[in-house]
Amino acid sequence: MDDERSPKAYTYFVPDYFPGFSCKIGTCRSACCSGWPVSISRENYFHLLGVDCTADLRRRLDCSMRMADYPTPECYAYFEHRYDGECALRMADGRCAVHAELGEDVLADVCRLYPRGVRRSECGEECSAANSCEATLELLWEMDSPIAFADVKLPLKPPELSPLSPDLPTREERMMLISYLQEEGVSPAAAIARIGESLGCDAVLGNTADLSIALDAVSTMLTHLGERNETIRALSARILTGADRADYTERKQAFLIRFPRWTSFVCRVLVNHLFFEQFPCSRKAVQRQAEFRALCAIYGLVSYFAVNCIGENGSESELIDAYAALFRLVEHSNFTAAVNFFFRGMGSSCASMLLL
Ligand code: SF4
Repeated sequence: MDDERSPKAYTYFVPDYFPGFSCKIGTCRSACCSGWPVSISRENYFHLLGVDCTADLRRRLDCSMRMADYPTPECYAYFEHRYDGECALRMADGRCAVHAELGEDVLADVCRLYPRGVRRSECGEECSAANSCEATLELLWEMDSPIAFADVKLPLKPPELSPLSPDLPTREERMMLISYLQEEGVSPAAAIARIGESLGCDAVLGNTADLSIALDAVSTMLTHLGERNETIRALSARILTGADRADYTERKQAFLIRFPRWTSFVCRVLVNHLFFEQFPCSRKAVQRQAEFRALCAIYGLVSYFAVNCIGENGSESELIDAYAALFRLVEHSNFTAAVNFFFRGMGSSCASMLLL
């Protein structure tokens, strides 16, 4: 029974790592408060403009919020960055000055919630943490078993949620697809192909001869995607020398010996991503094919980075950082549209990505 003093608890359907999630604040290697344009809603903007606080915080708030060029109720203003790319409200120890002085409830929803994503479903709210946050990926790396899901009570006030889309498949349907990635000893590529078949998508796994097609496709895709993301560009630059395809299969085997946890880790990363995005978001065949192509591309990029950026000598934290950067791009850009435009142009089957 919630007593007056304890914060109100809400019921969410969550992955079992989620209750243990917490932000790394100052120890985070690539904080979400730096480098990213953080947009806030009109409601949050005027709330922060008028909130009662110290003169110092008032000055920092007034100087750090800038109206959007074409303001909408959801995207009304942005937090400005300092010269070092950090949010102007981020303190030296990594904490947020607003949070430190006024508490969590005063934060703009995006700051209060990220990387947590709250979603509506036909049987209640769902919540999980984004793969673009290194703390999430580190929790998934440390796990030794498939992700379990359950209803739990959490003191996390949900944001305003848009009405449930009638086109969204049921939780049962979505969890059935996710379960393919959680079967004992399954390869993520085989599980994704099975998801594609279930969705009626073009999921025919090519043969090894198609590996060169896949390597062509992924390196061309990286050139495009690198234009949108500095970290991806830096990672790509290290590999687009043609060395990325020599003995690819042998180097992947060497990588898997160095990182025996990688396969089960990638299954958890993909499960978390599909749950976070409520995949597939639609019953329409065209939309499902588009989402499936994006899933194949994500797997292709995840493998490609593992072999070509981390390889035998890279570290766990380098692997986590590369994947956090990749999912920043996936979650915060029109990645699905970009990949589909790309594959239509390439004419190659997206399933060839599953060979990487
Ligand atoms: S990326 Fe994750 S761990 Fe890092 S500052 Fe953001 S929420 Fe915290």
